[in-house]
Amino acid sequence: MTSLQRNIEEILTTSQEPVSVPSLVRLLGEGGHAPHKTSVYRNLERMVAHGSVEEVFLDAGTVYYEYKQSHHHHAQCSVCRAVVCIANDLLEKSIKHLERAVQKNGFMPTDHHVVLRGVCASCQG
Ligand SMILES: [Zn+2]
Ligand SMILES: [Zn+2]
Ligand SMILES: [Zn+2]
Repeated sequence: MTSLQRNIEEILTTSQEPVSVPSLVRLLGEGGHAPHKTSVYRNLERMVAHGSVEEVFLDAGTVYYEYKQSHHHHAQCSVCRAVVCIANDLLEKSIKHLERAVQKNGFMPTDHHVVLRGVCASCQG
């Protein structure tokens, strides 16, 4: 494992929310590293392929990365772009129900994404 990969892994495991590449580069810089964006992407791709990290698609244009954990969804503030992880059993049950319904119409669901948009507590000030 490269030291860059170790540093990325450390940021992702300690972060409470998914991290975008620009923030990763900034955080690595604060830690005294100055990696090229391309090598950060390359390392992330490897970790995604390996299954330890997941890509999170929240808004067009930005991909966020987070350390793989149990299935959940996200809420994002449209002002500051802060992201929080949310898990809800009732939601998953409803989605299962929905999946069964579309299967009856011959559609084979593979996965799903749910994103709540809104304004976070500090941006409501
Ligand atoms: Zn906010
Ligand atoms: Zn998450
Ligand atoms: Zn779900």
